[in-house]
Amino acid sequence: MAWLKRDRSDRPNPSQAREVPDGVWVKCEQCGEILYFKELERNLHVCPKCSHHFRIDAPRYVQILLDPDSFRETARGVVSKDPLGFKDSKKYTDRLKDARKKTGLGEAVLTGTGTVQGIPVVLGVMDFRFIGGSMASAVGEKITRAARLALEERRPLILVTASGGARMMEGILSLMQMAKTSVLLARLMEARIPYLCILTNPTTGGVTASFAQLGDVILAEPGALIGFAGPRVIKETVAQELPPGFQRSEFLLEHGFVDRITPRHELKSTVAGILSIFADGLAGHRGEALKAREPAGAGERSGPPGKSTNSKEPE
Ligand SMILES: [Zn+2]
Repeated sequence: MAWLKRDRSDRPNPSQAREVPDGVWVKCEQCGEILYFKELERNLHVCPKCSHHFRIDAPRYVQILLDPDSFRETARGVVSKDPLGFKDSKKYTDRLKDARKKTGLGEAVLTGTGTVQGIPVVLGVMDFRFIGGSMASAVGEKITRAARLALEERRPLILVTASGGARMMEGILSLMQMAKTSVLLARLMEARIPYLCILTNPTTGGVTASFAQLGDVILAEPGALIGFAGPRVIKETVAQELPPGFQRSEFLLEHGFVDRITPRHELKSTVAGILSIFADGLAGHRGEALKAREPAGAGERSGPPGKSTNSKEPE
């Protein structure tokens, strides 16, 4: 009889037996508290006991940041191809297919327009579920288009980052997105259009090395891992013990890489507060947006050469 032959290995061991059923209860990754999922959801996926910020997906950030029903998705049709015909343990095209099915998204970033407490913005949110939020050529293109839209419509740009870095299945093409996105963000700066980054856990690799560090204001969620290479690689390279809390938001704030740590509950009000400071500069200048895009010397708003670094300061 089958049950007599049952392999002992499929019996739950005591630690597994204490695991909670999927979907109803969730165990906090930080403090171990067992949390009712619905309640966690109501609390914006922040542990009520220890304030650990659980990772959430892009559509959820859209809900948290934007006014209800104000989001209009842009560039949905921009999706990654497989330029190198890449295959590791799995074909890249299959990975893309699986990621799209799992997330309902076309790529690892969701972009669109909307309003934050009535202020029109362009928003881009990366989604870590989509191949680790990796920066593919389509991700770079979507962010570039979002920045261009912000420039044309003179709306502030907000990017929420969550990424393991560049998508190596696209080789150099993924690395080129660092330069491509940075160029457009520089144009935003010249046109004096605010760009805010919100760094979430984790923000690493080529994303940190480009648009995640170029914001006029850089916010970070508490406890987020933010860095270029991971702690293990750095530890091996420098052959030294790393300080406690290395590469976490709080450490980066202390060292000047982040402007403010913002708990998820305060994200929308903080963003709206910052944008309202810039609002006067944006109002009534829509017509000048195109002028700002012309080659250097065509407009006077960007000031003389070499002065562009001052353009963040209020007039
Ligand atoms: Zn907790």
